[in-house]
Amino acid sequence: MKVLVFGQSGQVGRALAAQASLRNVDIVQHDRQAADLSDPARCALLIENTDADAVINAAAWTAVDAAEEAQEKAHVINADAPGAMARAAAARDLPFIHISTDYVFPGTLGPAWKPDDPTGPLSAYGHSKLAGEVAVNAAGGSAIILRTSWVFDAKGKNFVTTMLRLAESRDTLQIVADQHGGPTPAAAIADACLTMAETLLNGPGKAGVYHLTGTPDVSWADFARAIFSRSGHRVTVQDIDTTDYPTPAARPLNSRLDCTSTKAEFGIERPDWGAALDQIIKEIQS
Ligand code: NDP
Repeated sequence: MKVLVFGQSGQVGRALAAQASLRNVDIVQHDRQAADLSDPARCALLIENTDADAVINAAAWTAVDAAEEAQEKAHVINADAPGAMARAAAARDLPFIHISTDYVFPGTLGPAWKPDDPTGPLSAYGHSKLAGEVAVNAAGGSAIILRTSWVFDAKGKNFVTTMLRLAESRDTLQIVADQHGGPTPAAAIADACLTMAETLLNGPGKAGVYHLTGTPDVSWADFARAIFSRSGHRVTVQDIDTTDYPTPAARPLNSRLDCTSTKAEFGIERPDWGAALDQIIKEIQS
């Protein structure tokens, strides 16, 4: 299989390159210079001219708070561009995998969100990502929207690398304890995208919306405690509420995603974030 990937430098983009080499998948990866998502027509043209068998979009506007002040730009990158990509892929009958987020949900307390639960974003970022989902669905091709949450790897600007950096200078940190979700290793998302692309190559029967997050679900505060204990840092975590840590963009309290259909349709298990965390800490500390 040969896959065209939008997004090279991000967490999932880098993981896709690594997973593709492990799985003997050919990958053609476009960075921002080759494929700026601010120019959806250019992205579509790259798909029109590709000799790849499938397309994965791992690029996005991911600056959640900054999106509040740049709604139009975020909309072009997170909605117009994936829509144009999905239409181009559908026209050529190419499977298209697009990554989305727990932020499409309103985050109200209750059980984990199922793929077909009603959406209701709280933030401009969430609205832009939901508009992307709608545009991809409307294209009508063989497409999968894979929602995930709390992505981490060893190099990205994420919660794990932020906590490890803060641990060098702080012995106490106040961390939000009333938001819950599944921390997800970027490698697991990349692996799932490739499995899904391969599956769609055999027919569009499993196209649709799916969830993949790491297990078990935790609060940010408990995730921070795990990071410090597993990395050998003595940092005391004090629980605080979301209301004690105001941000420009509202965050969902309930980011938990129900991944049952992902396991049922593709055999993909929720990744154990603890094992991935140990590996990443080892990588960072060596
Ligand atoms: P990153 O922020 O690590 O990477 C984003 C990627 O998008 C980078 O390669 C970046 O390139 C690229 N990009 C941004 N703007 C443009 C543009 N205008 N044109 C071309 N490329 C652009 O994101 P992740 O890998 O963490 O996220 C992957 C997907 O997962 C996204 O769809 C995101 O919405 C989703 N997601 C992420 C979560 C998280 O916690 N990070 C949680 C839930 C979902 P450059 O380096 O040049 O800026």
